[in-house]
Amino acid sequence: MKIIISTLLFITLCSTSFAQKNNLQPGGFYFGEAPVGGRVFYGDRPLQTTDDNRFFVGFDRDADLQQQLTLISEDNQVTILSLELKPRSYKIEKIEGISKKMMAPSAEDLIRISQEAAQVREARQLVTQLRNVSEQFIWPLKGRISGVYGSQRIFNGEPRRPHYGIDIAAPKGTPVIAPAGGIVQLAHSGMFFSGKTLVIDHGLGLSSSFLHLNKLLVTEGQQVQQGEKIALVGASGRVTGPHLDWRINWLEQRLDPALWVPLLHQ
Ligand SMILES: [Zn+2]
Repeated sequence: MKIIISTLLFITLCSTSFAQKNNLQPGGFYFGEAPVGGRVFYGDRPLQTTDDNRFFVGFDRDADLQQQLTLISEDNQVTILSLELKPRSYKIEKIEGISKKMMAPSAEDLIRISQEAAQVREARQLVTQLRNVSEQFIWPLKGRISGVYGSQRIFNGEPRRPHYGIDIAAPKGTPVIAPAGGIVQLAHSGMFFSGKTLVIDHGLGLSSSFLHLNKLLVTEGQQVQQGEKIALVGASGRVTGPHLDWRINWLEQRLDPALWVPLLHQ
């Protein structure tokens, strides 16, 4: 009987991973099926499972290409699920014309920056049972892609942290819609780097961030549906022109938003 159970489990996992192959890369993700009544671990971290035994794991920009999940059945049988990520490389982006204040923030600004970073971290740490994570995401806005996930950035000739969002250029005031439903976890009226900022929780630790907005149309705690207007495009914070910077986070890991939506015709 035990053998039959593990064979069935094996078949389920294989078919799931086949369908999801494209997302098995740094910046990507994996939706899996947990054993009924069992548990799933990613390293030491227990993963939240849903009522219908689904779990989600995301891979950072520089994630190891060999990933392992531990699945433990109700009667404590252990299955190791190995996932191999496709290697990827990232663009180098040079941006000139960033102001001195943004390049070298003052001591006062640095305090503000670290307080704001803590607020964003807190909003992203939440793991809820919301199931919007499994919706087919749509673009929050259509426009020219002016920045992609993972690029190594060079500001005024100085190497800086990689870019984690996808930048979509659009005139100030263009509506931004929710790419999937969820609950607004953070609605900030002006952060040092990201200006007017929203964080929306989609469930199982997955959230979207929207940066540099001109106007917020939702408030913290509000539930939003996919396609609902949530904000207007702006140029607030550290920017060189109006655009939306859309990010996808799985807890502290940064994922590639382009893997969540259909390819854009540009
Ligand atoms: Zn950006």
